[in-house]
Amino acid sequence: MERANFDLAVIGSGPGGYVAAIKASQMGLKVCLIEKGFLGGTCLNVGCIPTKTLLANAHVMHKIVHAAEYGITTGPITFDYAKMKERKDGVIDKIRKSLEGLIQSNGITILRGQAEFISPREIKIKGQDNMLVSASKTIIATGSEPLDIAAFPCDHKRVFNSTSILELTSLPKRLAIIGGGYIGCEFASLFSDLGVKVVILEALPSIVMLQGKSVAESLTRAFVKKGIEIQTEVMVEGIDHRSSCLEIRLKGKPPVECDMALVSIGRKIVSTGLCLEKAGIALADKGMINVNEKMETNVPGIYAIGDVTGKYMLAHVASHQGIVAGSNAGGQSARMHYNAVPAVIFTNPEIATVGMTLEQAQEAGYQAAIGKFPFQALGKSIAAIETEGFAQIVVDRKNGQILGAQVVGSEASTLIAEMALAIANELTLDCITDTIHAHPTVAEGWLEAALLANDTPIHFPPKVKK
Ligand SMILES: Cc1cc2nc3c(=O)[nH]c(=O)nc-3n(C[C@H](O)[C@H](O)[C@H](O)COP(=O)(O)OP(=O)(O)OC[C@H]3O[C@@H](n4cnc5c(N)ncnc54)[C@H](O)[C@@H]3O)c2cc1C
Repeated sequence: MERANFDLAVIGSGPGGYVAAIKASQMGLKVCLIEKGFLGGTCLNVGCIPTKTLLANAHVMHKIVHAAEYGITTGPITFDYAKMKERKDGVIDKIRKSLEGLIQSNGITILRGQAEFISPREIKIKGQDNMLVSASKTIIATGSEPLDIAAFPCDHKRVFNSTSILELTSLPKRLAIIGGGYIGCEFASLFSDLGVKVVILEALPSIVMLQGKSVAESLTRAFVKKGIEIQTEVMVEGIDHRSSCLEIRLKGKPPVECDMALVSIGRKIVSTGLCLEKAGIALADKGMINVNEKMETNVPGIYAIGDVTGKYMLAHVASHQGIVAGSNAGGQSARMHYNAVPAVIFTNPEIATVGMTLEQAQEAGYQAAIGKFPFQALGKSIAAIETEGFAQIVVDRKNGQILGAQVVGSEASTLIAEMALAIANELTLDCITDTIHAHPTVAEGWLEAALLANDTPIHFPPKVKK
């Protein structure tokens, strides 16, 4: 078997792994990147990029359907979902090719195959590149996969997971989505905007519970307005396959009839098959690899990053951890901080959060307050007929420090960057109110929310009328 020596081996080429490899290469290390599937991992191939490509189609569709509000007359609106899928595949292919070029341009050796440890410093690769790799350091970035449930397994013909549903070339009339987390809600928004009758079945008291009360309530309202049915506190017991439809069995409630179902109930960590025991790496709950803030595992010289650490399961967190691990492998002493992690749900309307919710800040003992500005009162939003939602800042009343922010509405995904910068740099409300925000833009929503939190609103009536 062929042998090769590297300073660093990175296992997995998702947004964690390839970024770590580039960083380590910039630090002067001789790096190999081992991938058993497609370059780019979940994010590029079956996650962020394909879903956002399809959501862009739904966005255009939504605009066309509402064209009359802008004085634009359209004829009958039709679309070809197979072409939308084709465009999605083309986008992935294009980015995959440029990613390969980017990795190679950094002098990183790409090795194709399944990696497994044979000792802490040796990795066997099985696949296209059958070989033994000796590496002084390793970064594990093997990610996660859709979680399958034995009670209602995916047949990928009528019952799908988040990966197989991306292969559809035509749409069902009725779709049941089991799980109202962010992935389930993005698919709900996508298919609903394309005319599918969607029902979300959620075991918890609300969809997107983790994003806080005001966000969950706001998205629920928007979804109901779109015609999406939401059943909360329901337990799915099984799926009966009838010739004409699927019947989703619910505990103690009447079944839900649909044509297709999407199971979106969480992700499974990918840590089996790596022979981690041969490297001496201890596994935590659900196969997660425990790491410290330097992304080090219990074995010196071996790091883990991204979904496999079970921390945030977001692409940009994986990438940032990759930079930390890559830097440390190259001899620096970098650390991860999680106080300002932005999270976006690309539904229509979009949702974005960073830092603490009001409830979390109060629980943490802060004298927390909010400034909440509705887009209904913002010139740019009115002009664009995008008045749904709000920008909200959570602040520490004692010193004005910004603790968190939530935004629901058009361009929320871009807007959140300002608050991420504010929180990461421990800025106060004054920093926002002293910053000139361009007019007319939706970013003025932050200025107004900060003014409201200071009880000095300009474009909103004062609490006590004069
Ligand atoms: C439908 C969907 C939508 C999403 N949308 C977003 C979004 O909008 N924004 C966001 O931030 N996040 C999103 N995510 C989450 C995001 O995709 C993940 O958090 C991110 O991809 C994790 O990156 P990673 O590098 O840890 O692992 P992954 O991207 O999962 O990559 C791991 C790679 O390791 C490879 N691998 C595994 N085991 C081995 C082995 N033994 N040998 C060799 N290679 C191996 C795999 O083939 C894979 O390519 C979404 C996820 C899904 C499913």
